[in-house]
Amino acid sequence: MVHCALTAAWRCLLLMGLALPPVVALAAPARVVLPDSVTPEHYRIDIAPDAGALTFKGSVQIDVSVHRSVEEIVLNGADLVIDDADVTDSAGVTTTPSVRYDERLERITLALGRTIPAGAYTLRLSYHGKIYLQASGLFALDYAVPSGKARALFTQFENADARRFVPCWDEPGRKATFELSATLPANLMPLSNMPVASSEALPGNLQHVHFAPTPPMSSYLLFFGAGDFERSQRTVDGVDVGVVVKRGDLANAQFVLDAAADILHYYNGYFDTPFPLPKLDLIAGPGSSVTFGAMENWGAIFSFEAEMLIDPRLASEHDRQNAYIVAAHEMAHQWFGDLVTMQWWDDLWLNEGFASWMENKVTDHFHPEWNIWLQSLDDRKKAMQYDARLGTHPIITPIIDSQQAIEAFDEIAYDKGRAVIRTLESYLGEEAFRGGVRRYIHDRAYGNAVTDDLWREMDRDSSRPITQIAHDLTLQAGVPMISEVSVDCADGATTLQLSQGRFAIDADSTAAHTWHVPVSVALIGGVTSTRVISGAAAVPLRLRGCAAAVLNVGQTAYFRSHYLPAALSEITAHFTQLAAIDQLGLLDDTQSLAYVGLTPMGSLLELADGVPGNAAPEVVTALAAAIEDLDRLCNGLPVQARFRVFARAVLNRLFERIGWDGVPGEPGNVALERAALIEALGQMDDPAVVAEARRRFALYLADPAQLDAAARHLTLETAAAQADQKIWDHLHAMAQSTRSELERRELYKLLATAEDEALARQALALTLSGEPPPTIVPDIIKSAADLHPRLAFEFTVAHWQQLSSDIEPDFQVRFAPRLLNSASDATLIGPLNAFAEAHLPADKRRDVHKTMASLRYRARVRRQRLPEMDRWLREHGIGHGIGHS
Ligand SMILES: [Zn+2]
Repeated sequence: MVHCALTAAWRCLLLMGLALPPVVALAAPARVVLPDSVTPEHYRIDIAPDAGALTFKGSVQIDVSVHRSVEEIVLNGADLVIDDADVTDSAGVTTTPSVRYDERLERITLALGRTIPAGAYTLRLSYHGKIYLQASGLFALDYAVPSGKARALFTQFENADARRFVPCWDEPGRKATFELSATLPANLMPLSNMPVASSEALPGNLQHVHFAPTPPMSSYLLFFGAGDFERSQRTVDGVDVGVVVKRGDLANAQFVLDAAADILHYYNGYFDTPFPLPKLDLIAGPGSSVTFGAMENWGAIFSFEAEMLIDPRLASEHDRQNAYIVAAHEMAHQWFGDLVTMQWWDDLWLNEGFASWMENKVTDHFHPEWNIWLQSLDDRKKAMQYDARLGTHPIITPIIDSQQAIEAFDEIAYDKGRAVIRTLESYLGEEAFRGGVRRYIHDRAYGNAVTDDLWREMDRDSSRPITQIAHDLTLQAGVPMISEVSVDCADGATTLQLSQGRFAIDADSTAAHTWHVPVSVALIGGVTSTRVISGAAAVPLRLRGCAAAVLNVGQTAYFRSHYLPAALSEITAHFTQLAAIDQLGLLDDTQSLAYVGLTPMGSLLELADGVPGNAAPEVVTALAAAIEDLDRLCNGLPVQARFRVFARAVLNRLFERIGWDGVPGEPGNVALERAALIEALGQMDDPAVVAEARRRFALYLADPAQLDAAARHLTLETAAAQADQKIWDHLHAMAQSTRSELERRELYKLLATAEDEALARQALALTLSGEPPPTIVPDIIKSAADLHPRLAFEFTVAHWQQLSSDIEPDFQVRFAPRLLNSASDATLIGPLNAFAEAHLPADKRRDVHKTMASLRYRARVRRQRLPEMDRWLREHGIGHGIGHS
């Protein structure tokens, strides 16, 4: 699954106020899972949705194996009513069970009234259920068409919502084959994991379709969809690859179809096990979800339109790269997750960490110009930020029950997971790593696995075993930090003493542990040598030559690098000689260490000031984001005016080189750099940028056709950020009148990005008006929260009763706390706590606690680090004449 916005989980132990646990010695409470006395073999499901009434009727025959004598059969079901049930043995003897529901555990018990012996049985259940308006279970998405409104149906089952569609063993380890049939209006296109095997016309303009049976798979991967769709397709390595869109959108499907064709062929080669289904659809649904962006249903990837479709008239560079990466991620899951599935949610990272790593690998192969590994250092940074705070957890983390599994989808599973796999691949070597992956996939196809199965395959016949490194990084929480203890040059060689510790950003997360960390070191311009550092004692490393040493060369490993002050100055002085990814790593490490006081704030500002005009676009983009973050920390403080003088000078020096207008043939990432610089300059109230943004918008209104997609997007984005009332009203009118769902969504979100708080308030008010489509409402609030976290949070709290109906039930506990992600005002902790007390169950407050830790941390940076920054700015004569603080 690709999450729109990730969240992080808290461990139950930490909620009880205990310190971080050491290494692996966690006694996890017992899992709440279905009894293993009965397991499913084959499901024959037949459903008849009534989309207008938002209900459906279903029947299912489940062939089961009873492994020992039982008196009852327990399976999952939620919001389903069983109308009729019977159980038949292999001799044809039928029992009619009584049915019990457990709403809390989402279980259905068939009490047989007698003991049945082990053997093969068939359950027959007739039932009815709900069609939801949010993406869980079987759900409907409405959209505008020239004749009014149309409705399409889809399903979303991860992590445990198949039970809202069919009574089933809804756990990843209970694989079975599925054979789905459906009765539908004749004009709708039916979709599932497998192709339609047969269909017949029924009276009343209906059709009954029967899909081919699936191979063994987990219930969360089942998919059904129906709507007035169109499909374009191509055959790749014998597989029918299709993109499915609502009627009229086919032109927007070309980009992702081309991408999918390349990616499928690449993966067939990488995994050395060809994609096993006859077809692979990528299905675009209108609207959005706050929980997720795309889902890897086997053979039927679902994604919201904005994550997949590229309208050449509207799409930005970011949209194109994102659509490619989302396809690459979900397609990687077709093997890692779908063909071989984690046994239980503890190992969710096997799915998500691997897919996140693989998406980069294939994207880098086909689009090296996107420098995806440089760009994704930002995700590593976010993961490290969480992993360095109180409340983090190991990658492999105990999950008690299916409901808790939703909390496992966080930065640790996705982004730390990706970084750890990169660490291991880089240490082991690309080919050896791929060999291990191939054996793992081949030997466990159609089955389940735990993480150690993967390490075992990697270490088979290997001279470089990785299990120890992998265990350290996946079974214990936290960010390793490699520090220089001393650097000496003598006799033409440099000797470094390196020690290991833990990078922690609050006092509560400093519990010591060490890792086996592969550390790559090179003198600037020299040869890289790699050594595994374990334990806390200093380790000497000798390199030929005398120059500044760079730690974590290529930024392939998961740790923070801590330089001695003199070494940091020397590397900063030789910044242009570093590879772009090491420039980025240096910037990232310096910012993180400066925030916690391990490095002077002045070093961070010197580094920012020293980024040359010709630096790589990804470096400049990251710098702009770092400057914006510092500026947000300064909000409301006198130091902000002085900092903005400095920031504008740095940003303008970089912006001068690329200017407002793209030139034909420039790399796509320059467009991202341009947008980042303009956004940052706008945030710093740069008068020239503000005036130019408004001027360009006026020109656009006069003749919208004159701008290509990139220029249009930049113009609208900057005008929205710098909007006055008149511009805001124009954008609003455009959102109301467009006929494109993609554009409507884009414009409503832009309305909430205004820096002017009064305008952001107007955008928030729209969410109560019934005017924007309901699935856009949470996105509007999230957009406003970027610059106005307090406003967005207080608005949400004040209108929770109305707004919560637009937020998927599973996500309601996470939505409000996450609006405060960029906030740094500790006075928000009280209101957040009060909201949690009033509206969130006590055992579902992980995001609340995570946000509180973030608020405390950022408030401390403001209090402790900004005065030092202010001194540096004064000492360097910056903002001379600005009032004293
Ligand atoms: Zn995923």
